[in-house]
Amino acid sequence: MEYVALGKTNLMVSRSSFGALPIQRVSDEQAVSILRAAYEGGINFFDTARAYSDSEKKVGYAFYGMRKEVFIATKTAATTGEELQRDLAASLEALQTDYIDIYQLHNPPFVPVPGGKDGLYDALRAAKADGNIRHIGITSHSLELAREAARSGLYETVQYPFSLLSTEEEIAFVNECAELDVGFIAMKALCGGLLTNLPLALGYLRQFENAVPVWGMQKLEEVEQLLYFEQHLPVVDDAFKADVEAERVSLSGDFCRGCGYCLPCPAGIPINDANRMKQLLRRAPTAGFLTEEWKEKMLRINDCTKCGQCASKCPYGLKPLETLPSHLEDYLTFYENRRK
Ligand code: SF4
Ligand code: SF4
Repeated sequence: MEYVALGKTNLMVSRSSFGALPIQRVSDEQAVSILRAAYEGGINFFDTARAYSDSEKKVGYAFYGMRKEVFIATKTAATTGEELQRDLAASLEALQTDYIDIYQLHNPPFVPVPGGKDGLYDALRAAKADGNIRHIGITSHSLELAREAARSGLYETVQYPFSLLSTEEEIAFVNECAELDVGFIAMKALCGGLLTNLPLALGYLRQFENAVPVWGMQKLEEVEQLLYFEQHLPVVDDAFKADVEAERVSLSGDFCRGCGYCLPCPAGIPINDANRMKQLLRRAPTAGFLTEEWKEKMLRINDCTKCGQCASKCPYGLKPLETLPSHLEDYLTFYENRRK
């Protein structure tokens, strides 16, 4: 495993970090063994969030008694300074620690600054002065806000979606973070499951010296695969570049990243998966989607009231109410074909 200094935090983190969102779906015992396997394989940076139900607690169990061996980042979606203090106390308790290495604001709708009415940044600064957090970070799905945060000099790390499908403008942002010495944490390196070629995704990101991807994992095999490719990094030659280009072409255009910021939908539509069903059916193992349960969920698209809430919340400017019907149609075709 290679290690890199994460921007001005100077934390020497592993080039691949562990995204602890998916471990919500497994038992405490499984989560602990997956997290410990990642650690044994050289991963020393673990990213969780207050919003990921029991994920912090599982990370706390896994690293109890060896806190100094790992770096832990978590997030708060607090909207006021008081809320942030409450969230931080809850995170410290769940993680069984008295400090958090990187405390990130979780996708706020603006970039908090010192003296702001919300009190968020002042609360972060006070927590840092008290030693409860070591570094201040922010996560965002908006390039504009991520850029504003990086340029403000107020945030030591920025977490933003970055993968081989990213645009030239996003690539320029990653390079700008390197110049500004802001740690760049790459979320959604597999684009929420749309990219299925791990070595390609990993090799692409490794070209950016300052980018540390967060790989969400919930199975031991996933950890083993990642560690294998960390040991056997692909060579970035012409064939590799051609494969990256082919992936880009096949997934070009506006596509749903599955981030879920458009949720909840008043009609109960699982927009984050339903709005990329065409791609998921063709790229991910389909069996999990072609079930009675998923059919019922997809049919909720017929109940869309066209309220427009999803479009107003989508950070990528997508209009799910326009695209969902064709995903439903495609899904039903797949579903019927499977029964034949
Ligand atoms: S529609 Fe937009 S907000 Fe909703 S999951 Fe897709 S990309 Fe995210
Ligand atoms: S427009 Fe339809 S899909 Fe979007 S939030 Fe409203 S009911 Fe849900």
